[in-house]
Amino acid sequence: MKWINHQVVTGVIVYTVTEDLLFASFSMAGAIFPDKVEGNPRGGISFRKWRSRHRGWSHCPLIYLAFIGLLAKCQDASSLPGFFGSAAFLSLAETPIHLGIALGIGALLHIAEDSVCGKVPLLTPSRKVGIRLFTVGSITEYLFSLVVVLLCYAARTML
Ligand SMILES: [Zn+2]
Repeated sequence: MKWINHQVVTGVIVYTVTEDLLFASFSMAGAIFPDKVEGNPRGGISFRKWRSRHRGWSHCPLIYLAFIGLLAKCQDASSLPGFFGSAAFLSLAETPIHLGIALGIGALLHIAEDSVCGKVPLLTPSRKVGIRLFTVGSITEYLFSLVVVLLCYAARTML
């Protein structure tokens, strides 16, 4: 999926669920993270090297689930030792933790969105799952994104 469609689909889904514009904005940043960390295929590394790493560890959902779980655990003051469990630290860290969770959710949605236009890792990069409903960059991809946006709009107006 193109980055613009990752951002639109992720942002609309997250805003539909949370009604939080800042949270949705950070999820949109997370929606390009798995591809961004792979580097630019036209950049300093060879295309072959980039291709061999594409949709590898960067697209492993367990990493983002662990990241979200760790941040969610940090929100619970009683679970943290010493200064990190203090009210002063938690009041400072509350917003960054919340927005970090948004980044992780955006990355997870990126992986889910990639799974409908190819294969992504399930548990490890060697075991990939997914279906190819459309080719990346095709008009079908844009129509798919439009349908998701319309479904979210319908959900917001009906609920
Ligand atoms: Zn991707």
